[in-house]
Amino acid sequence: MQRDEIAIIGGGPAGLMAAEMLSGAGRAVTVYEAMPTVARKFLLAGKSGLNITHSEPYARFAGRFGEAAERLRPALDAFPPDAVCAWAAGLGIETFVGSSGRVFPTAMKASPLLRAWLRRLEAQGATIRTRHRWIGFADQHLLFDTPEGPKTIESAATLLALGGASWPRLGSDASWVGPLREKGVPVAPFRPANCGFDVDWSEAFLSRFAGEPIKSVTATSDAGVIPGEFVITRHGIEGSLVYAHAASLRDGLERDGEAVLLLDLMPGRAAERLARDLGRQSEKASLGNRLRKGASLQGVKTALLRELAPDLARYAPERLAMTMKALPLRVQRPRPIAEAISSAGGIRWSGIDAGYMLQALPGVFVAGEMLDWEAPTGGYLLTACMATGRAAAQGLDSWLRR
Ligand SMILES: Cc1cc2nc3c(=O)[nH]c(=O)nc-3n(C[C@H](O)[C@H](O)[C@H](O)COP(=O)(O)OP(=O)(O)OC[C@H]3O[C@@H](n4cnc5c(N)ncnc54)[C@H](O)[C@@H]3O)c2cc1C
Repeated sequence: MQRDEIAIIGGGPAGLMAAEMLSGAGRAVTVYEAMPTVARKFLLAGKSGLNITHSEPYARFAGRFGEAAERLRPALDAFPPDAVCAWAAGLGIETFVGSSGRVFPTAMKASPLLRAWLRRLEAQGATIRTRHRWIGFADQHLLFDTPEGPKTIESAATLLALGGASWPRLGSDASWVGPLREKGVPVAPFRPANCGFDVDWSEAFLSRFAGEPIKSVTATSDAGVIPGEFVITRHGIEGSLVYAHAASLRDGLERDGEAVLLLDLMPGRAAERLARDLGRQSEKASLGNRLRKGASLQGVKTALLRELAPDLARYAPERLAMTMKALPLRVQRPRPIAEAISSAGGIRWSGIDAGYMLQALPGVFVAGEMLDWEAPTGGYLLTACMATGRAAAQGLDSWLRR
């Protein structure tokens, strides 16, 4: 049987950060990864620029994690957004703040950062073993499926960073839930986060407008009034503005069986002004012309208005203006978790101690998206995954020294 000082299972950002901390402290670390290469989701995140953190005031940043904010706070305090940027700079990766306050590597991709990170891990003596799928425990030992057959590995301490349940084809398929539940680890059911939603579009609307972006609108839900844009898809709606409301819509559907996003198609113009401008149009003009001339509304936005308020042509200008300013878009259900950017749910905070060790399994530490927290897009996810990777590594190091 192979013996490791420290086995880190899962080669995503949380696991790699834990490996960096522990190998940097002189520990013998082996990272086990199920896939043929590490950090596939991290690389995919790089396709949209790799938003690694956010530049907003730290108190606001640290409050973006909902009910888990308090539990995450010490880990975030120890690795706040400035430290994320300094860490990237230490790997030779410059960052910049985008117009939304989000922080990206100047190269807008993940691969140069990952290459530099893996070089650092190698220089610090960490070993990475890919195609090693952890399947559970045999007594105190770790069981793996490998191309050479099953392997049992003994470790002095273990850190699991196996990810959440979104995009399973990149490796994080949540197959760890069974073996951990069997050992008494409490796991909250996974739910999609930062996801699209199904909408009951008419065929006529879809055939012309699927794939079209709806730009410069605001959307309101329990999450607040948020400006941005989204995309009409064959199934419903996707995009950053939808993700910002996703947790609120998902919770509303679960709680009340329905959820509505209120759209303001004309955020720059007050309802009274809009009503006046629409009222000036000839009653004989077609609805399309009245909207175009009176409100500069055309194309997909006009089509969306007609789709969601079919008897619009009969509305008086005031009602038409009000509808454009508060257009209810009813969503049916979240898209499947396999399509979501991240997942809510995972190991409950009651199941771990302040050092990120599982109460049910002393010597086993956990980090990253496999824990029960969620956050919007904006760099919060990667920051918290790396911050918890560091915190769990520190917890493990202290435990070994005890
Ligand atoms: C399309 C997309 C874009 C994103 N963009 C951003 C962004 O710009 N900014 C941001 O902050 N976040 C972004 N995210 C989210 C972010 O990538 C994740 O939150 C983050 O990667 C989670 O890190 P993790 O280390 O906890 O888990 P993961 O990155 O999921 O890594 C877990 C690793 O564990 C391995 N593993 C799983 N099970 C086993 C097993 N049984 N045995 C061995 N290995 C196993 C997996 O193969 C995987 O490599 C994006 C996500 C997606 C899908």
